[in-house]
Amino acid sequence: MLTHTEKEELKALLKTKKKIVLSSHSNPDGDAIGSLLAMYYYLTNKGHEVYMVVPNKFPEFYDWMPGSDLIINYEKNAKKAQQLLKSADIFFSLDYNALNRIGPVAEFIPPSPATRILIDHHIDPERDKFDYCYSNTAFSSTGELIYSFISTLGDIKFIDKSVAEALYTCIVTDTGSFSFSCNRPETYEITAALLKLGIDAEKMHRLIYDTFSEQRLRLLGFAISNRMIVWDDLHTSLIYLTKADLSKFNFEVGDTEGVVNYPLMMKKVNLSILITEKDNKLRLSFRSKGNFSVNDLARKHFNGGGHRNASGGNVNKPVKELIDELKVVLDDYSKELNYELVY
Ligand code: 5GP
Ligand code: MN
Repeated sequence: MLTHTEKEELKALLKTKKKIVLSSHSNPDGDAIGSLLAMYYYLTNKGHEVYMVVPNKFPEFYDWMPGSDLIINYEKNAKKAQQLLKSADIFFSLDYNALNRIGPVAEFIPPSPATRILIDHHIDPERDKFDYCYSNTAFSSTGELIYSFISTLGDIKFIDKSVAEALYTCIVTDTGSFSFSCNRPETYEITAALLKLGIDAEKMHRLIYDTFSEQRLRLLGFAISNRMIVWDDLHTSLIYLTKADLSKFNFEVGDTEGVVNYPLMMKKVNLSILITEKDNKLRLSFRSKGNFSVNDLARKHFNGGGHRNASGGNVNKPVKELIDELKVVLDDYSKELNYELVY
């Protein structure tokens, strides 16, 4: 992922105190927030001046993470973020592969001679936009890549309990609690190393997953009972939640996280789609089992992308129109979707 020369250059670059801005993608998830905090503590431990920026709000169930209150939300504090970005020596892009994933922040990323570094595990990173790319799609999470990045630079000694907690959050959330993207032994070796640093994995799991409001759980029940369509011939399930549905359940950021995973529990379903109506736009989430690439689907048809088995997209049209369009688009994939995984 880094040539010998690049490694030596990065070591030299990080040897003296620098002003560093870390960024992650819109609608930040556990891997985004964890990656920011892991790099924040690692680089602070090394003596740098470090700031973190995200384009918009992250779910409250990450508020317990030490340092999360230092993350600047661009939507709330654009001026401050712009000032910091302008004067940064180093800009890190964490857990995203393309600058359009940081929305308005992209306009202000520091130009040369500032150094731009990408650490990410999504398909097809925009390599030409960065001076260094630490990118590999085989890794469970950007957090796991960060552990490897720090280790490559000979800096394991700077991984303390704060870094470890943040990295564990990345790994546990991006693997659905070790249920997907986790077939590499290295994922468990790194997790074991994090546990040896004294993190309380059970407690962290509770803090992330067992903090639903009553309304959030009722929204999940409603989504499955009242808003789920199953297209048997396409081995596909679709859940849609309108603005009115969300407001009926007092929607808070993060309340729909995970909803898209449930339909995959049906044996017959290979593709699960969630449509949520937000700010007059529609957000799409795709999940698949097996070889069907939802990254390709989101890229080709829905202005998005992601991974083979998890991707997202965005469109600007009424829900009913989108559902009709999905049916037409997926009819062309009916052969690819018609498989039965061996259990
Ligand atoms: P989610 O459905 O959880 O929002 O996103 C699933 C995966 O797809 C994540 O890895 C996320 O980074 C990626 N993703 C979500 N939305 C987009 C998008 O609009 N563009 C791209 N390129 N990737 C996305
Ligand atoms: Mn990720």
